[in-house]
Amino acid sequence: MSLGYAQKLSYKEDVGSVGMKELYDPPNILQQKIEQLASMVAESKHLVVFTGAGISTSCGIPDFRGPKGVWTLQKEGKGVPDASLPFDRAMPSRTHMALVALEKTGILKFVISQNVDSLHLRSGIPRAKIAELHGNSFREICQSCGTE
Ligand SMILES: [Zn+2]
Repeated sequence: MSLGYAQKLSYKEDVGSVGMKELYDPPNILQQKIEQLASMVAESKHLVVFTGAGISTSCGIPDFRGPKGVWTLQKEGKGVPDASLPFDRAMPSRTHMALVALEKTGILKFVISQNVDSLHLRSGIPRAKIAELHGNSFREICQSCGTE
């Protein structure tokens, strides 16, 4: 069995705005923003991170609304992006691992994710410290007794 968007998603008529241009800051502005974010994280008292498809694009899993997103290509009459990896073959990114490092040092208290790819759990975020809003492709629960 292969888990990935190519096998899982069905056609959706109304997906809202898609294919927006990606924005890039010049290096000096980017550096300022990185330093500002690092200060905010270091000074935080209860850091919670909310992630979506963008955190997994560098792992080979497409987003939905980006220039080569699943819904963007669907709206253009194309299929699932060629670079779409099955979830079980994708590896956590540096961003996933940075969140694990923040969790281990006690700075990151909780992760909320819209992703179903399980990369946060596979990277090492403890199950008790994540809410997977749309579920997890690798998790099934018995409807009768609740056993995972
Ligand atoms: Zn059962």
